[in-house]
Amino acid sequence: MPSPPSSPTKSTDGSESNSSTYELRKCPSHTAKYLEMKPQSKRSNSNENELKRQDESKATKRQNNTNETKATKKVRLRLTVSEEDKANKRARKSTKMISSSEFDEVYYKTFGHKLSLAEADNQRGTPNDQDKECFEKARSKAEKKTTVKLPNNNETAEIPKITKISFGNYLIDTWYIAPYPEEYSQNDVLYICEYCMKYMKSSFIAKRHQKKCAAKHPPGDEIYRDDKISIFEVDGRKNKMYCQNLCLMAKMFLDHKTLYYDVEPFLFYIMTEADERGYHFVGYFSKEKRSSMNYNVSCILTMPIYQRKGYGQFLIDFSYLLSKKENKAGTPERPLSDLGLLSYRSYWKTTVFKELKQQKGPISIEVEISNHTGLTPDDIISTLETNQMLNHDASTNTYSILINPQIIENHLTYVDQKNYIQVNSTKLTWTPFVLSQDRLAHLLGENPKLTIKNVDDESMDIDID
Ligand SMILES: [Zn+2]
Repeated sequence: MPSPPSSPTKSTDGSESNSSTYELRKCPSHTAKYLEMKPQSKRSNSNENELKRQDESKATKRQNNTNETKATKKVRLRLTVSEEDKANKRARKSTKMISSSEFDEVYYKTFGHKLSLAEADNQRGTPNDQDKECFEKARSKAEKKTTVKLPNNNETAEIPKITKISFGNYLIDTWYIAPYPEEYSQNDVLYICEYCMKYMKSSFIAKRHQKKCAAKHPPGDEIYRDDKISIFEVDGRKNKMYCQNLCLMAKMFLDHKTLYYDVEPFLFYIMTEADERGYHFVGYFSKEKRSSMNYNVSCILTMPIYQRKGYGQFLIDFSYLLSKKENKAGTPERPLSDLGLLSYRSYWKTTVFKELKQQKGPISIEVEISNHTGLTPDDIISTLETNQMLNHDASTNTYSILINPQIIENHLTYVDQKNYIQVNSTKLTWTPFVLSQDRLAHLLGENPKLTIKNVDDESMDIDID
């Protein structure tokens, strides 16, 4: 019930306020009824009869009024909603519905009046020659349309929109689709700054960026320099944006790559070639800061423009150089891309052959070859197997290595002739970033298990000399 202007409880407190209450009672709205009920109990007897009479007369007046309005209302009802009208209305409605439903049926049956009713008849089960002809016509028409649309079709998500990247002075064809933000995937060419890895939509923005970009080399520390070749170590935690952008670009050349955004647990080793303009990006490999599986490479890429120059082998050799510095054997994370597997097989073969050539006496895979090269015993065995150098004696159940010096010599001469750049271990200025649990325990002179428990993630990231 809506609250009246002055509350009825208030009016019950004192008789002085009665007059104002009565004025309110005169209000023709239905709230007045509520008001008039309350003060009755508190009224003085002398006034009561008079007031009662007034009330009664007013009440009868009101009743008459309401009766009158009710009567008029009744008349009105009779006028507007007569049964005849209702019936007519119903009839009109039903005829309208029928016609619209009929219309819909024809419309959908004839594919929006594209077919005649005879053509749209689907009672027949098997298509006749005319139907087949129609189908062939429609198919050839559709095929023509799609072949025309394909090269510039920027609307379908399945078709790679970015087919080239403008990188440094090169325009490079991409191999796979990378999940760049939608607004950057609308054009055929994506512009990437080779120094800071920022990606841009147009050549205009790229040129403007080129003028403004202060970077002339990757971020992070330069840990290796030999003539014009440098390697920078970039921390995924400290240079998150650079590493994310790098991963996105790498996806366009790597099939299996799934890491784009969670770059913090990784270190990135960027290989560059320097000239008077700056340090040009050649390739990179990423490595987990702490790998439980002893992976020394997570992703590895040489830009297509620098392939067939031995830079891939250089990066692999460099990753093993770091593993040797860490005093442990390493292996790349699986699965490897087809190109990656070929590069690794070639590298393992050359490395194992070099090691075997130097050996004069008995040799142990685990002690000599693995320690000297940084290769895991598994990788060494698989290399020996692929080159048919592992012999199994079934009677004694022992394995032996078959060495043919001529084959080894031939392979090493072939590799030397390529004259690829080699890693010079003396040029490396680096201390292992992540200490192995055992080594940390050894340095601290503590029980390894207790040390692992007490060392948190952040403190493990600190270099210890
Ligand atoms: Zn830049």
